[in-house]
Amino acid sequence: MSNHKAGFATRSIHDGQEPEPLTGAVSVPIYATSTYVQDELGKPRMGYEYARVTNPTRDRLEQNLASLEGGMAARVFASGMAAINAITTMLKAGDHVVCGHNLYGGVPRLFNQILANYGLEFTYVDTSEPRAVDKAIGRNTRLVYVETPTNPLMSLTDIAAISRICRKRGPQLVVDNTFMSPYFQQPIALGADMVVHSTTKFLNGHSDGLGGVVVCTRKEQAEQLSFIQKSAGAIMSPFESWLVLRGVKTLAVRMEQHDRNGRAVAEYLAEHKKVKAVFYPGLPEHPQHELARRQMSGFGSMITFETGSLGNAKRMLRKVRVCSLGESLGGVETLISHPATMTHAALGEKGRKAIGITDGMVRISVGIEDAEDILADLDQALAAI
Ligand SMILES: *Cc1c(COP(=O)(O)O)cnc(C)c1O
Repeated sequence: MSNHKAGFATRSIHDGQEPEPLTGAVSVPIYATSTYVQDELGKPRMGYEYARVTNPTRDRLEQNLASLEGGMAARVFASGMAAINAITTMLKAGDHVVCGHNLYGGVPRLFNQILANYGLEFTYVDTSEPRAVDKAIGRNTRLVYVETPTNPLMSLTDIAAISRICRKRGPQLVVDNTFMSPYFQQPIALGADMVVHSTTKFLNGHSDGLGGVVVCTRKEQAEQLSFIQKSAGAIMSPFESWLVLRGVKTLAVRMEQHDRNGRAVAEYLAEHKKVKAVFYPGLPEHPQHELARRQMSGFGSMITFETGSLGNAKRMLRKVRVCSLGESLGGVETLISHPATMTHAALGEKGRKAIGITDGMVRISVGIEDAEDILADLDQALAAI
């Protein structure tokens, strides 16, 4: 018994989510308090002093997410971007970061338009090519920052291969695991030093809260991030922490259904006459399908497809009913979006062209509705092309 490690679904429901000691409440309470009474000078009860520093609801979520990612600790923030920003504040002027060239749009905006002003340097490479990462690493490189799969092109990076390069050359490897969730991809087991998520997406899963997390593998990282939480203050609120604690309890069943529906939609699109290409790592035609099978335990529900033109994309997106036209992803509802004019508009036409994003691409985050209803909706919408 003592050696038995509980499975993923059990840990998502129980780790950090033990009944509350005072009343036995099975749901972790929302500790809506800014401060904590002290019994005497220098004697806070249970170590709690002020809620920017620590809060019991937040602590519980941090324990839960550390367990699910196989890390030693986690720190949660007000948004995914706040979590990513916290990682970069661990750096100093003159430090260099090697990152993917097709990252979530907010990340290069933060790097180029804010952090570059503080003397941090960034080099963007195609991280699906380990040699490109190796070549870009210099004497002052502190981090390699990777998103896999990428948005919206669904290109994969071999985490284990990049980790071997980082071990040899020195920088720490950070992986954004938002698209797969810890249910389908375990970057720390593959050698990542830190994992980051926008909890806004699959971890929360219900499109009702914003948040981010950094999962650590070493005590120094966790201590430094606690200091950043306390000093910079972009922490996750108790209520948002509770929303993620609630959402994460069903992560395993949601991801199974996302994956089933994702495969069904990808196969349907691949067969459709009006669809010119489908980007989904679960399809055998995907150029990195073998890596996907090796590195992930499912393929998830993020799919991009080519309609051929901006006009075609517009025509079909005007018709969708079950699929909601909107940014974001990872919720129970199917969300459909147009990268060129929505999530990737800021890249500009040249920037999009450089990495292969076209005006005809449509991205879908397949929800957990009945698959037949999603397929019927796409069918009638595609008929408008
Ligand atoms: C949404 C997202 C982010 C940013 O998270 P926010 O919670 O919106 O701040 C970062 N990375 C990826 C892959 C995302 O999808």
